[in-house]
Amino acid sequence: MNVQSRLLSPRLAVVCLALAVLFLVITAGGGRAQSSGTAGDGYLFHDSHFHLTNYIQEGTDIHDFLKIMGDKVGRVALFGIPLQQQWAYEVTGDYAPTYYLQTDAPLYYYSFTDAHIAMAYKSLTPAEQARLDPMITGFNPTDMYAADHIKRVLRTFPGVFSGIGEFTIHKEFVSSKTSGEVASLKNPALDRILDFAGEAGLVVILHNDVNMPFPKPDQDPYMVLQLKELFERHPGTTIIWAHVGLGRIVSPVQDQVGMVARALQNPNLNHVYFDISWDEVAKYLVATPESIKYSADLINRYPDRFLFGTDEVAPTEQAKYLKVYDMYAPLLAALTPEARAKVLKGNYERLFDAARKKVRAWEAANVGKPLPPPQPTPISGYK
Ligand SMILES: [Zn+2]
Repeated sequence: MNVQSRLLSPRLAVVCLALAVLFLVITAGGGRAQSSGTAGDGYLFHDSHFHLTNYIQEGTDIHDFLKIMGDKVGRVALFGIPLQQQWAYEVTGDYAPTYYLQTDAPLYYYSFTDAHIAMAYKSLTPAEQARLDPMITGFNPTDMYAADHIKRVLRTFPGVFSGIGEFTIHKEFVSSKTSGEVASLKNPALDRILDFAGEAGLVVILHNDVNMPFPKPDQDPYMVLQLKELFERHPGTTIIWAHVGLGRIVSPVQDQVGMVARALQNPNLNHVYFDISWDEVAKYLVATPESIKYSADLINRYPDRFLFGTDEVAPTEQAKYLKVYDMYAPLLAALTPEARAKVLKGNYERLFDAARKKVRAWEAANVGKPLPPPQPTPISGYK
């Protein structure tokens, strides 16, 4: 079987993107006019998806990163990576892996990432801090206590965080090598996390592949169905679906149209957004004139639902950091001025400004007060 030609079809990927978006925007009743972006600030974009550190918790010094942003990038949603790649000597010996594809040793949840990000942020001046929206990632989404970790981080570092994520439920190669219980969209621990994110106003950046790698033709895309049900259970939570569910080798199944048609009855998904971050995603969307046109038409129709992001990990220089933006030039050129402004800046400002306000209000009401003991409180969808 010619695996490459089937898996990397840009046309299929765009069809997948189109259908996934269509089902969400149509079921949500369509995008509504919102405030437009900041046209006159001189920045090229705000970055809704950025990792300061890598899979071994090392990365760019935050002061250097501010210089890399320079006068090109206005604001950045900033996070580490919740998973640490273990260096298992019995597996790779003296070779120290820095990426999950470099060894069969497991990944494990590394909660200290949140303290690292918070302390880095706190080392900046107020003017520098105003350009960043740090995110909490260091929780295990299979743990019913994960929401309590998030609360604890807000209480320990008030005034810092705007959201949670990027965190991962299903991801090619990653999920199956993560230590402990396998993450699941059906786990009530995840509902508890999203319930609290809604209560506190935290923006959620969720990575969940749109399908499994290497699906058989006509295989039921259970992930998308579970994802839709999860989104439906949390109408009060702002959720960004990272990479529109695409990945290196994740491709849509042939029955996508039928799946989307079955999902078209849901009117309650206008709290779900899409980031088009990652060079792997850009590769699909700008592959051909046809893919560019189809993607641009969709974004132009629903300009409030997409955010630009880089998904860069610990860049060392500005040219590398701007690579994904440069890759997207043909797509950006095909957007209306209004859609371009919203995708690059306006939607970021709207979502993250709202989050800052709500999270600061939650902190003002809760920090310094005794924590109630963990309780078996009702969870959305599990009452
Ligand atoms: Zn990412």
